[in-house]
Amino acid sequence: MRKKLIAGNWKMNLGPASAVGLLKDLNQALENQSVSSEVVVCPPYVSLHQSVSALQNSPVSVGAQNVHYEASGAYTGEISPQMLKEAGCSYVIVGHSERREYFSEDDELVARKVKSALNEGLNVILCVGETLEQRKSGDQERVVTEQLRAVTDQLDADLAARLVIAYEPVWAIGTGETATPEQAQEMHAHIRSRIASSLGEELSTSIRILYGGSMKPANADDLLGQPDVDGGLIGGASLDAGSFVKIVEIAEKITSS
Ligand code: PEP
Repeated sequence: MRKKLIAGNWKMNLGPASAVGLLKDLNQALENQSVSSEVVVCPPYVSLHQSVSALQNSPVSVGAQNVHYEASGAYTGEISPQMLKEAGCSYVIVGHSERREYFSEDDELVARKVKSALNEGLNVILCVGETLEQRKSGDQERVVTEQLRAVTDQLDADLAARLVIAYEPVWAIGTGETATPEQAQEMHAHIRSRIASSLGEELSTSIRILYGGSMKPANADDLLGQPDVDGGLIGGASLDAGSFVKIVEIAEKITSS
């Protein structure tokens, strides 16, 4: 059975001091619980160091929200996979729709980043998802297939063992609108079948596919209960320790049922 993964994407929120404040609450809430799911928080770069320190004796891991594909060099403002590893990160989000939209990241760039981060030993959460227009015109599966193919064409099954896919319909991110559990399940099953074709049956049964897009305690039960939904990538609700912990608890309940 695939271990559930609950990851918080803090986006451009919580500098070092506020990050430590939230993580204190998170640590306290999880202190006496045995957590079988994997739990990850992805703070902004400047808060990574303090977050790793604050989570030293905790089951929660730390990830970054972006990465460059080169190891070092004249790339002002960029951070390499090696630097993330050295800072204590085990995960990195790549290809979030906000990066694709506001920072012009295309499939080719996303693929280079994914490959480089995986080669460095990081676990990568690759985001894919369609816009509202694309869904309205029934194009969602084609769009997601293309986003996936751009990356999987560059990988083999061994390298992809550390890959996680996050299906994040763009129309559901930060909007309060959520995909229905049926819409999520349908796309997750589609993604799994594409992974089977490109990287093999074995990887397709072990790879985790997260849902992201306005997940919160009120809808997490239905979404995480779908057979191909292996966890959540959570934006807004991860900025509140109580809501984030509730989602972790819902994942635990589903795993143990
Ligand atoms: C995200 O940014 O990955 C996300 C899912 O955001 P939200 O939960 O706020 O929709």
